[in-house]
Amino acid sequence: MHELSIAAAVAESARDAARRHGAASVESVRVRVGELSGVVPDALRFSFEVVTEDTVLAGAALVVEDVPARARCGDCAGQFAPGTPPRLWCPRCRGAAVELVAGRELEIVDVTLPGGDGCAGNHPARRDAQQRESA
Ligand SMILES: [Zn+2]
Repeated sequence: MHELSIAAAVAESARDAARRHGAASVESVRVRVGELSGVVPDALRFSFEVVTEDTVLAGAALVVEDVPARARCGDCAGQFAPGTPPRLWCPRCRGAAVELVAGRELEIVDVTLPGGDGCAGNHPARRDAQQRESA
């Protein structure tokens, strides 16, 4: 269960974000998962539900963005989809100086807190309310 430890790490970062903003809950967490990252999105979503149960993240949706793999040929600079498992030679010139440029991603894109950014300190409406109180 490789996904379980990844889900735990994602949950940890999202929890930190919620804490920084003083949010009591989290609406959703968006992650980018590369085609070649070795992560199965369904397994990741399931693991995320398990690790967030009874935490501030309970009920938060894990939104998975799939990133297709891309490779670039160092000889002719052509780009192509290497497929899975990746075929690391260029379909155009058959060169082997191929470099993966996308597909290994595994990162958090953003964390959505209830009520927009969750920052309660600096909204114009709130400042107006305070001014009215002091007047
Ligand atoms: Zn090439």
